[in-house]
Amino acid sequence: MQFLRENKSLNRVENIKLERHPLEVRQAIIDTYSKEGVESMNAVPGEVERLKWAGIYPQKQGGNAFMMRIKVPGGVLSAGQAQVIGRISADFAEGPEPNPVFGNNFLDITTRQDIQLHWIKMEDIPEIWRRLEEAGMTTVQACGDSARNVLSCPVSGLDHEEVVDAYPVAQAISDFFTGNREYANLPRKFKMSVTGCLEDCGQAEINDIGLLPARLEDGSIGFNLRVGGGLSDGPRMASDIDVSIRPEEAVELTRAIAQVFGELGDRDNRWTSRMRYLVQELGPEEFRHQLQQRASFELRHAGEDLTEHYRGDHVGVHEQNDGDYYVGLNVTVGRMSGADFVEAGRLAEEYGGDVRLATDQNLVVTGISAERLDEFLAEPLLERHSPNPGAFERGAVACTGNEFCRFAIVETKARAVEWARHMDENAGDVGQEAVRMHFSGCSASCAQPQIGDIGFRGETAKTEDAIVEGVDIGLGGSLGGDAAFIDWVEGAKPVDDVPGALTALVERFKEERREGERFHEWSRRIPNKELRGTIRSVGRNRGRG
Ligand code: SF4
Repeated sequence: MQFLRENKSLNRVENIKLERHPLEVRQAIIDTYSKEGVESMNAVPGEVERLKWAGIYPQKQGGNAFMMRIKVPGGVLSAGQAQVIGRISADFAEGPEPNPVFGNNFLDITTRQDIQLHWIKMEDIPEIWRRLEEAGMTTVQACGDSARNVLSCPVSGLDHEEVVDAYPVAQAISDFFTGNREYANLPRKFKMSVTGCLEDCGQAEINDIGLLPARLEDGSIGFNLRVGGGLSDGPRMASDIDVSIRPEEAVELTRAIAQVFGELGDRDNRWTSRMRYLVQELGPEEFRHQLQQRASFELRHAGEDLTEHYRGDHVGVHEQNDGDYYVGLNVTVGRMSGADFVEAGRLAEEYGGDVRLATDQNLVVTGISAERLDEFLAEPLLERHSPNPGAFERGAVACTGNEFCRFAIVETKARAVEWARHMDENAGDVGQEAVRMHFSGCSASCAQPQIGDIGFRGETAKTEDAIVEGVDIGLGGSLGGDAAFIDWVEGAKPVDDVPGALTALVERFKEERREGERFHEWSRRIPNKELRGTIRSVGRNRGRG
């Protein structure tokens, strides 16, 4: 079955999906392309596009270099699964030369709790999938116009601040959609999150579907629904359409929303085919009406919202609700070696817990007993991935950037590490545990710059005698109780001037902040013109290149 809006023309990708179901590319990789080479795939029209449904993108280097994305629903990995992923990275993710900052055979933790591997060769893919599937993991639909990895609070089931364990709900939704041909051809990517704590760890407002904890009319705990949130070029906070559900209704609710999107979403213009534009077009009442027509149960009205604020990260030592501890380790910009990821899994196994991936690109090891906590904190891995990092390294999030991504205008990961270290060395005490500094290499939002204290997106910039890499700079983003996107305050700042501009901004923040005020709150209070003036006090802006 294909959901199609009547009387609409179809864009190029829609026609590719109609010619052959995109999920079929997986078997073709196993049977043919991995044996006969990349050329055999390139000879099949549309096949490179269909690769996404198998969780694979061509790298910008072309040829036999691919990125592979592994879905990790809710960010939860068993100790054994983490070791399998780390070993795959060590065995297969080898580039022709080491990255000067990160070396070779590394992996990336993403803002959707996925793992990305680079430099994967076509002939190795069946063996990688065999290892993943043997350990209960998949890359199916990690990319493409279908349900992506389902987010959840990384410490679901463990946190004191939790009112309902969201992980089983996220897992059930993921199980329903993964490999489901009927729902694998949507107009665009389809992002879902389920949060059970009071701290919006699943980032409900920027997902197509966000489920947030709520007290229902009968006093039981369930979820309130938000729909149509997202970032990128048209950022939008998700709408409250006055619906709540019991946890056991989540799969049917998300299925029915996917049906609404599949049947009514735009398949003509890919710039406007995201679900947030459909929600905008229909409005909350009509969207609710369309949903009711497709859901198999009577929609009830929204319950009492229980979300209090946005937490942002889980770095550091925290007591679990069962008396054990979880320790959040800093993975600056989400990149770490496969060998270190194996070690994280080994530690989880030895200390009795598992490994969780967080949307801020850090990781958490759980289940450490009070008696062994000091021993855990002395483990050598924690010298490289500290539970007590500087505020800027802790908050640094970066997308893939122009090292691998064909859309990127600038390099992101190594630069974000450099800037974060510079700030941690020079800014002194900023009075908050993390400054969330998010860096996307283009106007897409893989690093979620719109919700950072400080956001960057890649641009070209002019200096007096050259066109150089630059960034737009935004300030003041957050989710949770005071959710708002950043204001883009300055355009096309040459990258070499950014550390100085950041230092000037942070110095000003330290001088002007009110008692308890956080960076995003301060920057929202100061007029943009003044903030721009501070940024421009360092270096020279001569506009876009
Ligand atoms: Fe590529 Fe842009 Fe996404 Fe970065 S934000 S990974 S540059 S598409």
